[in-house]
Amino acid sequence: MTVARIIAEKGSSVVTVQPDRTLDQAIHLLAEKRIGAVVVSDGHGGIAGILSERDIMRALASHGGAAFDQPLANFMTANVTTCTRQTSVEDVMELMTEGRFRHLPVCENGKLVGLVSIGDVVKRRIAAVEAEHQAMRDYITMA
Ligand code: AMP
Repeated sequence: MTVARIIAEKGSSVVTVQPDRTLDQAIHLLAEKRIGAVVVSDGHGGIAGILSERDIMRALASHGGAAFDQPLANFMTANVTTCTRQTSVEDVMELMTEGRFRHLPVCENGKLVGLVSIGDVVKRRIAAVEAEHQAMRDYITMA
């Protein structure tokens, strides 16, 4: 299975934010949308960074309440690993495990076209394993 299938099922809309917004605004956006990370837009359809709840925790641990009014760009990860629609789910799992992150923006020609989270991947892996088990049970019952 590739990322294209996941995007087709969940949709291609991604919550994005401008880098000059404050950390406080980003926190409210994450809470309102019930998500764990937001892609920071470069203003031209591409990616300037990603800000996840872990970055917010680190910002608060090092700056305390003074972090709230600072631009979120000060705390985002600018060097973002991305994948394409053609990337396999196995490769997504490897990228997430090696990079120690749970979100992977999907890009095509430098433009953001979707986002895959670890939850999306786990959901499909569980469905695939259950389908395999069912096929085994059917095979054994028929035999
Ligand atoms: P996460 O596990 O996705 O909440 O993110 C953990 C850390 O990795 C945070 O510092 C994020 O900014 C960073 N991060 C999340 N996704 C990516 C990604 N695709 N590429 C690079 N860093 C990322």
